[in-house]
Amino acid sequence: MNILKGTKIYSIFTGSCPVCHEESMYTESNAYKLSQTLNMKERCSHCDTKYKIEPSFFYGAMYVSYPVGIAFAVAAFVIGYLLLKLSLLTTFFLIAATMISLLPVILRLSRNIWINFFMHYKKKQKLS
Ligand SMILES: [Zn+2]
Repeated sequence: MNILKGTKIYSIFTGSCPVCHEESMYTESNAYKLSQTLNMKERCSHCDTKYKIEPSFFYGAMYVSYPVGIAFAVAAFVIGYLLLKLSLLTTFFLIAATMISLLPVILRLSRNIWINFFMHYKKKQKLS
C-alpha cells in the first residue's frame, strides 16, 4: 500500500488525511464499530487540515455512496449470478446481504472519495 502513497487511491482506501496521507481521518480504525463508523477527527494533527471544510460538508458523500453502492451490487451480481450460477432470487438476496454487510465500508469509502474531490496531496506540509 505504501507504494501508492501520494495518490488519491491511497487516501481513499486507507481513509488517511487527503493532504498529507500521514494519519487516519477517523477516530476509530475499525469501520464496523457502528457507533463510531462516521466519527472523524476535526483536524489532521500532522498538517492541520480541517476535514469538514464547511457545515454539512459530508452530506455530499451521499451522492458518491450511490455509485459506490452500485459498484458493490454489480460485483455481487457478477459473482452470484454469472460465476456461481445462482438463481435470480438467490442472487437478489446475495446483493441485499452484500449491501447491508458492507454498509460501513461503503459509507467510509464515499466520504474518502468525496473529500478527495476537494483536497489534494501536498508533500511534506508541516505545522509552522
Ligand atoms: Zn494531514
